[in-house]
Amino acid sequence: MGRIAIVTGGTRGIGEAICLALKDAGMTVAANYGGNDEKARAFTEEHGIPAYKWDVSDHEACQRGVARVVDDLGPVDVLVNNAGITRDGIMLKMTYEMWKEVIDVNLGGCFNMAKAVFPGMRERGWGRIVNIGSVNGQAGQYGQVNYAAAKSGIHGFTKALAQEGAKFGVTVNALAPGYIDTEMVAAVPQDVLAKIVARVPVGRLGHADEIARGVAFLCADEGAFITGSTLSINGGQHMY
Ligand code: NDP
Repeated sequence: MGRIAIVTGGTRGIGEAICLALKDAGMTVAANYGGNDEKARAFTEEHGIPAYKWDVSDHEACQRGVARVVDDLGPVDVLVNNAGITRDGIMLKMTYEMWKEVIDVNLGGCFNMAKAVFPGMRERGWGRIVNIGSVNGQAGQYGQVNYAAAKSGIHGFTKALAQEGAKFGVTVNALAPGYIDTEMVAAVPQDVLAKIVARVPVGRLGHADEIARGVAFLCADEGAFITGSTLSINGGQHMY
């Protein structure tokens, strides 16, 4: 039976690779995105995967967005909470707005989206939720109290929801990428990035499809016994 999947922030970067990996695994995929219409159009044209625009930090918009996907494709079996943003700055320069925006998109988005799909998954007795965390949520990162807190929160959210889903065939896991060569990382100053890469034992940035393969693994039927865990894919940058 073909599963229906939603990938938030699915039209570029890691999300795009996740959409393709889930499609390859036989799923019918819907990609959500936040604002870049041009990229979304190109994505749909290239991959034949529909793209839906809504802001994951807006609770009601998530409920309406998921309802549209259900109308178009059917009940959602797989949710990948991938949409994320950074608004970096040291504490002395970080504004309340920078803090709130990052928490609302990266962490609030996970709640908003899970709220829309979890009841149906539970009722139908099958579901997969994968939340994209970060090595910086595990280890912390200078200049990222907002992002590290949001990503760290994702790991707690994952473990709590996993306990609620376990008896109903719904697994909930987190995947914590290291530094991956997307536009998000392209925004990091070159000298800072060079220092970060120097600390990665594998000696390079990761590729989006290396993350996507991990997501597809967690979303497979065979993943039924993996829940509440965090899969770290980071070139050995952080081990614990
Ligand atoms: P990109 O910046 O390349 O892409 C981000 C995606 O999220 C885009 O599709 C964007 O949509 C979407 N998005 C942003 N804000 C919203 C919103 N409010 N509502 C809906 N969609 C939104 O990011 P990456 O691919 O690099 O990152 C993907 C995930 O992986 C993020 O959660 C990130 O934190 C995490 N991660 C990334 C790492 C990396 O090194 N790249 C490392 C560790 C974790 P649009 O195109 O419309 O703007």
